Amino acid sequence: MKLYDISVTLEPGIPIWPGNPPFELERVNRLEDEASSNVSRLAMGAHTATHVDAPIHFIPGAAGVESLPLDILTGPATVFALDLPGGNITAETLEAAHIPTGTVRALLKTRNSDLWRGGPHDFRADFAGIAADGAAWIVAHQIKLIGVDYLSVGPKGAGRPTHETLLGAGVVVVEGLNLADVPPGDYELYCLPLKLKGSDGAPARAILIQK
Ligand SMILES: [Zn+2]
Repeated sequence: MKLYDISVTLEPGIPIWPGNPPFELERVNRLEDEASSNVSRLAMGAHTATHVDAPIHFIPGAAGVESLPLDILTGPATVFALDLPGGNITAETLEAAHIPTGTVRALLKTRNSDLWRGGPHDFRADFAGIAADGAAWIVAHQIKLIGVDYLSVGPKGAGRPTHETLLGAGVVVVEGLNLADVPPGDYELYCLPLKLKGSDGAPARAILIQK
């Protein structure tokens, strides 16, 4: 059995979406200061590193992250490698990727994954995202979970229609995956976001197990 950890490590210096809160992990009780144990305080945005989006992220009054179905967040998933020199993921790109009918969980590996190879780096606005027509394609093909390898499912500056289409249709959106070392193919996905009541997103640990 081969296991791939496709989660980005949470550490200082990881890229943060512009305007989102920084990642902070601060030890507030210290053994060396005679505390009974080491205890840290964690502060971060709900959309930091590997995470899921809830419908309420873009749709007023919609469901929070705790309501996302675990039977969609886990199960058979396929990694598709997309060749996108400089471009975004369009309906045409997805059509050309030969995604089989009946695919429930699709993880899209792009040039973005290479950005995670070096660990922490400055936020990159030129990442590949899913264009509006690509989101419509995903909904039309009844894909229930879509995973992408940078911090937003939609391109920078044009992400709203992509989010609205996917989240409005109940598609589970997983963002910030590191697929750098994962060959395309079929796996079992386990993506478990924190159970944050009413939240618009939640950090997640995601792994793939090779069948
Ligand atoms: Zn998000």
